[in-house]
Amino acid sequence: MKVPLLDLKPQYEQIREEIEPALLEICRSQAFILGPKVQECEAAVAAYCGAAHAVGVTSGSDALILALMAEGIGTGDEVITTPYTFFATVGAISRLGAKPVFVDIDPVTFNLDASKLEAAVTPRTKAIIPVHLYGQMADMDAVMAAAKAHGLIVIEDAAQAIGSEWKGRRAGSIGDYGCFSFFPSKNLGCFGDGGMVTMQDEAKAKKAVILRNHGSEPKYYHQLVGGNFRLDALQAAVVTIKLRHLDGWTAGRQANAERYRRLFASAGLEAAGQVVLPQAVANRHIYNQFVIRAKRRDDLLAHLRSRDVGVEIYYPVPLHLQECFRDLGHREGDFPESERAARETLALPIFPDLTDDMAEWVVESIADFYRG
Ligand SMILES: *Cc1c(COP(=O)(O)O)cnc(C)c1O
Repeated sequence: MKVPLLDLKPQYEQIREEIEPALLEICRSQAFILGPKVQECEAAVAAYCGAAHAVGVTSGSDALILALMAEGIGTGDEVITTPYTFFATVGAISRLGAKPVFVDIDPVTFNLDASKLEAAVTPRTKAIIPVHLYGQMADMDAVMAAAKAHGLIVIEDAAQAIGSEWKGRRAGSIGDYGCFSFFPSKNLGCFGDGGMVTMQDEAKAKKAVILRNHGSEPKYYHQLVGGNFRLDALQAAVVTIKLRHLDGWTAGRQANAERYRRLFASAGLEAAGQVVLPQAVANRHIYNQFVIRAKRRDDLLAHLRSRDVGVEIYYPVPLHLQECFRDLGHREGDFPESERAARETLALPIFPDLTDDMAEWVVESIADFYRG
């Protein structure tokens, strides 16, 4: 049996009859950039996330850049985030000339350890970027308290967390900004690159709209230097249609997570200390990834791949140890929980259309590995 890490083809079959006419209509209209399709998508995403405003952009990476630009963050500024995230979180800070300041992660949630925030704040700190990794939100009570105490902007990196909740509040609705990605492998993916920035504040939304289009307001008059961060109508139409199905797919992922828990429990792997399963802490986990810790992780990974089980390491090198950030002067041991996570974690297939047989084969293959 082959178990892919992610297979989007069954999902496409479910929505093909809705999507194809919508795309054809846009092709025939030849109206591709921004416009009513993007506005409709923005309104739908804002409502879904519990945000007052949403601004459609080119990618999740550009969503982060745009939020930082809207706050004028750049050279001489510091932004606090986690070193255990996808590169884009830290790349955005660095590309604007600001300094990423890391705090280590909580070993249970893999999100930034909020108890370490205070110690990372300096007079140059401008913002905090909590990352809601794997589909579970960071401790937003602590993040917002630290931000309030020091007058900092909060930019939620919600690229992996659309629809996840912290004590009943959705990702992207608590901080000043929420940044979303519609990269195909995210829970709400489009047919290429796309992203969204959410916010509650109208002035911030207006500024983001202007910056998204080269700072042009009115047309060809520029008070600000922005960029081309425009979402296009084809991607917006896909997102709007797929959003109607998202809760069903999320329920599928959550059911898969529960099935894994039952299968792992009957295999006795957790009791034997071979693996640690992910925990959902005080919120709605949307399982963009189902990430376990595993003894002898690299050997397990090779074993699973030899059996055609798709697995991946998110992420093998924490950002403080990446070569491009060596000027920050970090060394191994600076963020031990991030480094340990990079050594121990493994993502298993969790996509909504994963079948019983597939999940059983994944767990059986893991059990076989530890039996030797
Ligand atoms: C995917 C991702 C991004 C970047 O999104 P793109 O749309 O690929 O640019 C940023 N942060 C995190 C945590 C991500 O997972």
